[in-house]
Amino acid sequence: MNDFSTDWIAAGEAELADVVALRRAIHADPEIGNQCPRTTAKLRAALDGLPLEIHESTSTSGFIAILRGGGDNGRTVLLRGDMDALPMPEETGLDFASQVPNAMHACGHDSHCSMLVGAARALAARKDSLPGTVVFMFQPGEEGHHGARFMIEDGLLDVQRPDSAFALHIYPNARAGAIQTRPGALLASTDALNFTIRGAGGHAAMPHDAMDPIPVAAEIVTALSVFIARQIPATDPAVLSITKIDGGSAYNIIPDEVQMLGTLRTLSAKTRQKAREGLKRIAENIAAAHGCTAEVRIDDGYPVTMCDPRAVSLLKQISEDLEPGQWQPMPAPIMGGEDFSYVLREVPGAMAFIGVAPEGSDPAHNPPLHNTKMTIEESVMAKGIAMHCAYAERFLENGFD
Ligand SMILES: [Zn+2]
Ligand SMILES: [Zn+2]
Repeated sequence: MNDFSTDWIAAGEAELADVVALRRAIHADPEIGNQCPRTTAKLRAALDGLPLEIHESTSTSGFIAILRGGGDNGRTVLLRGDMDALPMPEETGLDFASQVPNAMHACGHDSHCSMLVGAARALAARKDSLPGTVVFMFQPGEEGHHGARFMIEDGLLDVQRPDSAFALHIYPNARAGAIQTRPGALLASTDALNFTIRGAGGHAAMPHDAMDPIPVAAEIVTALSVFIARQIPATDPAVLSITKIDGGSAYNIIPDEVQMLGTLRTLSAKTRQKAREGLKRIAENIAAAHGCTAEVRIDDGYPVTMCDPRAVSLLKQISEDLEPGQWQPMPAPIMGGEDFSYVLREVPGAMAFIGVAPEGSDPAHNPPLHNTKMTIEESVMAKGIAMHCAYAERFLENGFD
């Protein structure tokens, strides 16, 4: 039964035109990394005049905006929107396509932060009826730059400690308006792997006088897939991909060394630890067995994105109340990663995907996230605004009860 204080879908529709305009302005002027000053300026201008308390991040261009409700029952809810783009060209042909060479909003963060502005406006207009506090987190640097972690290290979660947190991510391969998530692991941890296998170069015709690192690299690649298949439980999986092998310069020269890059994805801290230790051990020992050395550097990526089952139940209820039939529980996690995981590590909450397949398209065949032709159905942003507002209202009123 729908017992919202407001018709949030209608409130979202009322904000839509402005939010679409904001999203297009941000889309045309994308920025990458932890410093997105032009995007921050557009967001701040769009929030100007609202009864919000702004706290800036000192290490990024991000900020939080605090909305204090008419009542204060002690509860605080955090809503997050990221704002950074990707280092890639845009090929959508849209008339508001990127004007910045090699930068594109191909992950939809332009829509995320714009929807959050819409939610801030809609909630601010009804602030007297809110029984607690809403924190809006506008965050750069999601695409591998740990923006959320920097904002947390800046102390921004402690300004007004949230009791729950929620974020939405658009998904072009789900029908418009569908809401998808799952309790527990939603997205994987993401570690970057760097291998340097060192031997001794020489003439390709006399390998016995050299120490050839190339077959050693090949053996390590094969052994790593055996390690994952035989040592990592199928019920708590890991994905390990070697994505770059770089060594050698000519057909008759054995090189000194081979460099390899890869990524490790897991769904639990336990398997993450086991896989990190194991891959290092295998690379080092295979190299040693052949008289070479392997140096393995693991760059910490994002933690696993864990959704609190109570937050997911709340989202299911909200989704069904706002628009029946659009709730689509996900049977399995996705092995991609997301830095909202840093927030969810500290605050119980959830992230959900919202389908944005353009009108008339076949969701399964739309250009996916991170594709040069990725587009979204902008009208869905009204529902995205409604989801944010409804989550805030329900959580502030009832907590997880
Ligand atoms: Zn992305
Ligand atoms: Zn993203």
